[in-house]
Amino acid sequence: MWHILLERFPNEDSLAKTGLSLASSCRFCYASTETLAHLFLHCPYSHSLWDYFSSLLEFISIFQLSPLDFFISAISWKASPQVGNLWLKAVVQIFWATWYARNPLIFKDCFIPLISSIAFIHTTLKDCNRLNIGGMHNKQSDLLLRHRLQVRPRLSRAPRIIEIYWRPPPLGWIKVNKDGACLGSPGPSSCCGVFRNHRGFVKGCFASPLGIMHAFEAELSVVIKAIEYAFGFGWHNLWIECDSSYMVSLLSCRSPNVPWRFLSSWRRCLVYLTSMKIFVSHIYREGNQVGNSLASHGLSLAQNS
Ligand SMILES: [Zn+2]
Repeated sequence: MWHILLERFPNEDSLAKTGLSLASSCRFCYASTETLAHLFLHCPYSHSLWDYFSSLLEFISIFQLSPLDFFISAISWKASPQVGNLWLKAVVQIFWATWYARNPLIFKDCFIPLISSIAFIHTTLKDCNRLNIGGMHNKQSDLLLRHRLQVRPRLSRAPRIIEIYWRPPPLGWIKVNKDGACLGSPGPSSCCGVFRNHRGFVKGCFASPLGIMHAFEAELSVVIKAIEYAFGFGWHNLWIECDSSYMVSLLSCRSPNVPWRFLSSWRRCLVYLTSMKIFVSHIYREGNQVGNSLASHGLSLAQNS
């Protein structure tokens, strides 16, 4: 293969250049001298092989190049590891099959039909697929290629699947899903929260702009507001759920360490919490859609004000 790419291959054209007296002619088509580019790329025999496997693998071939340029463009084709490896194998095998068919034609006058070369390449691709370590992308296009090449699939490992769903609070409890949004760090911020009972009915909600803040400050502001509202409405069994791990840990340990401008309101909340039952949980953003939507609404209020 490397001899072909470096144009140091014993085809008739190369031998003629070394001084041998040869009437170089392609034995497949008799339409051109047997140059490397013609034999392996442009000859109807090799061209048919390229056409067949290019269409199977949906690779757009450009044949107006030297074997080296063509090889570089072929191996730089972006595909899944499995399809990429099969295509690379097909490229090498097409070069090999063309040479393998050319020699008997010259020395034994024995023509190997195109269909035999295609079957030979298919067999080697199946063998290659058994040794491959790359997997396919979990896409329909890769599945189609696999069927066309009649090779076994090498499925990529499925991503870890986490089930996320909203759970209502127990009877007698109010659950608040809250969120803070921030455009930049710092940037225009907003906070929101929605209070729901054990049947999922909305007892109240809020969304308001906060001015320029960092994201964690917006999260802290919304927790303070949620506790103040809950305490004011007499909802003393409060389940706070948010998608901020920072707030979950802050509430869990009732830490007083917050930025100074929130210190007084946060200390007041800690006093409220002494007379409240609090449960804190984390939920992924996908399970906190109401909170996210309200936070976006709060941001739009900030931008319009
Ligand atoms: Zn030819």
